Amino acid sequence: MNEPCLGSSTPLVPPLYQSSVYVIPDLDALDRIYQGQEPGFIYARDAHPNAQQLAAALAALESAAWAVVCGSGMSALSAAVLAVVRQGDRVLASNRLYGRTTQLLPQELPRLGVESATVDASDLDAVRAALEARPRLFLVETLSNPLLRMVDVPALAALCRARECLLLVDNTFATPVLFRPLEHGADLVVESVTKMIGGHGDVTLGVVCGRADLAGRVAQVLTVWGLMSNPFECWLALRGLGTLALRVHAATANAAALADRLAAHPAVTRVVYPGRPDHLDHALARRLLPAGFGSMLCFELAGGREAVNRFLRQAPGIPFSPSLGDVHTTCSHPASTSHRFADPAERAAQGITDGLVRLSVGTEPLAQIWAELVKGLGGREP
Ligand code: PLP
Repeated sequence: MNEPCLGSSTPLVPPLYQSSVYVIPDLDALDRIYQGQEPGFIYARDAHPNAQQLAAALAALESAAWAVVCGSGMSALSAAVLAVVRQGDRVLASNRLYGRTTQLLPQELPRLGVESATVDASDLDAVRAALEARPRLFLVETLSNPLLRMVDVPALAALCRARECLLLVDNTFATPVLFRPLEHGADLVVESVTKMIGGHGDVTLGVVCGRADLAGRVAQVLTVWGLMSNPFECWLALRGLGTLALRVHAATANAAALADRLAAHPAVTRVVYPGRPDHLDHALARRLLPAGFGSMLCFELAGGREAVNRFLRQAPGIPFSPSLGDVHTTCSHPASTSHRFADPAERAAQGITDGLVRLSVGTEPLAQIWAELVKGLGGREP
């Protein structure tokens, strides 16, 4: 194969190494690469340059000693959990998590001999009591999907440390721009890179990072369970990192303004945004998120599912697309999408009603988003 000759020049933009396997000169070189005596790559499911570059950039953002990039946020969560649990262990989880994460623990872990339980992660006494059962791992989301309940990561980390339980934080909704759980005592952090970090709706990736001594186990799980990312998506995500902070701050400012405007609109019965004083965790969010409260908000329409359908049809400029974190504003309906498979009673208890719309606010001009929201709400400015 003819390599282009670059001489002393190097590409400004990291190249895409779209290769599933590498050519090694001889068996001695292969041994040296396997033994870590010299850098190099062998097979892309184990490691590839684009994943390595993205992981290094994400580790720096998260204040982490290491990071590994996985094929999705769910594979990152799976890698983190599988790396640390063994048969007979227990996993404790917040009772407010993304729907698929809620499914992962009770559906997949018991077959491996790992039991799971849930707890209200906002109730520190309840957490203290649940930790008496000596779980190996406690899984929480910084800001929960969809109702943006904020957990007190430093307090939970202290409780976990006292019980030798690892704290795993899914930081997807906060992003490392607004919150870095490792700086607050978490042991492992997962982000769905598919969301704000990717930011353009064109990658499906995740990342795990964490305490130095846990790196080896996560890397091993990644390769043998086959949870690796692919080069092109890593390349795209690394390209997007250059604007991550700009995007997050712009979208956060839009979200804060829209939350207040929506709260004043007569068609809206409830707004959920941690930056508003009426949010249950506003005080905690003010303490832990000094740079802003994020780009996600929820609002509720009287009239349930039909009202939501009307909103979606009247506001085509805010696409109904069940993901989040893109530069474009999109919306979703948690009861039909992320929490579709949740127990209806549990959904109702949490306040995930049929009239609840989850808005992922983008970086468009505020006036443009507001105009489309007003159309969706029936065309009336409050
Ligand atoms: N964590 C949270 C909070 C999420 O909202 C999602 C997906 O919506 C995930 C994890 C899973 O990420 P992915 O879709 O990249 O697997």
